Amino acid sequence: MKCEFIEYQLGAYAAGELPPESSLYIEKHLRTCPSCQAWLEEVREMARIWQQPGPELDVPDMTADIMDEIRQMPPLYKRQASRIKPRDSRKTMIAHFGLAACIAFCLFQFGVFEHLQTGITQATEIFSNSVDHILKEGKR
Ligand SMILES: [Zn+2]
Repeated sequence: MKCEFIEYQLGAYAAGELPPESSLYIEKHLRTCPSCQAWLEEVREMARIWQQPGPELDVPDMTADIMDEIRQMPPLYKRQASRIKPRDSRKTMIAHFGLAACIAFCLFQFGVFEHLQTGITQATEIFSNSVDHILKEGKR
């Protein structure tokens, strides 16, 4: 029960949006709970993927939206429980990859990348990170 409560807050915690007393409570729990630590790592990893392009790409709205989604993600064990058939999780993987492809494509289309070469490097980075993450998710 306690972990469920903590995990729901970790997105906001990772984004630094919790009041200090809540952050302290979570940090205290994290020191004693490996499973919540792992969840925090995952949240941070996702945040890193999406924040990586940083100020060079002028898409602040997208980052905000995605951070919102990360914040609203249910705790890990609930996501696992909802994944009853492996086939469903495969579908999710493909959907995730499709979404990543769409975003990269849109970034190119709208000329968000100022210098093409930097753009390609960044897109490749985003892609490989997304794929890494999807593969990690799929193995669970
Ligand atoms: Zn915990």
